[in-house]
Amino acid sequence: MNAADDKTIVREYFNSTGFDRWKRIYGDGEVNKVQLDIRNGHQQTVDTVLGWLKADNNLSELSICDAGCGVGSLSIPLAVDGAKVYATDISEKMVEEGKDRAKQTLGNAENPTFAVQDLESLSGSYHTVICLDVLIHYPQEKADEMISHLCSLAQSRIILSFAPKTCALSILKKIGSFFPGPSKATRAYLHREADVVKILESNGFSLQRKAMTKTRFYFSRLLEATRN
Ligand code: SAM
Repeated sequence: MNAADDKTIVREYFNSTGFDRWKRIYGDGEVNKVQLDIRNGHQQTVDTVLGWLKADNNLSELSICDAGCGVGSLSIPLAVDGAKVYATDISEKMVEEGKDRAKQTLGNAENPTFAVQDLESLSGSYHTVICLDVLIHYPQEKADEMISHLCSLAQSRIILSFAPKTCALSILKKIGSFFPGPSKATRAYLHREADVVKILESNGFSLQRKAMTKTRFYFSRLLEATRN
């Protein structure tokens, strides 16, 4: 399967069964045990990023691009805390849900600005570019291109999360629950941390903070890198 096929499959998944599933996981309604575990794990990743950015004490001065924003789990709290957020996702359904949630939390505010856009076609320049739990949908070669493109949009900093290859066995167990039913065809790709760091460095970035979220069914390595 080539990368273009991966992207088409991912887009269709997050506009159909994937949307229904992830909207629930990234919500606060009732879910099954596996989904609850993934919800809690993902929330930890979001909270770690919010903690890092708040600790710097300059959120209200920052422009942030949240590439693959999903339903706005990170974009909305960032906007609440004063950052100027550009939130984009390849899935119209996820973006519509994000807009609804932002309206509920922030009223009819213009911030975050939501748009349906795949991250490869993003342009512009942002203080910080963030891409959480998106690379899992792409093989390393494609992820390299995506990371390089995101680096080109970042004036100062990039924050990425991905499923690390070291957790391979545990991850394999969860793939079935990640993409249930007919969408099992959608693949989950793991990435070696050293490969991700190498590509960040080749784009002129150096690693700063890092974190790992590990629950029973959710694994995510989080890296922050800043421009040299
Ligand atoms: N980053 C969000 C978060 O952490 O709450 C959502 C994570 S969700 C597992 C992955 C998201 O990436 C989905 O909303 C999906 O539509 C989006 N996505 C996948 N491939 C993408 C691409 N090439 N460009 C933009 N968004 C993409």
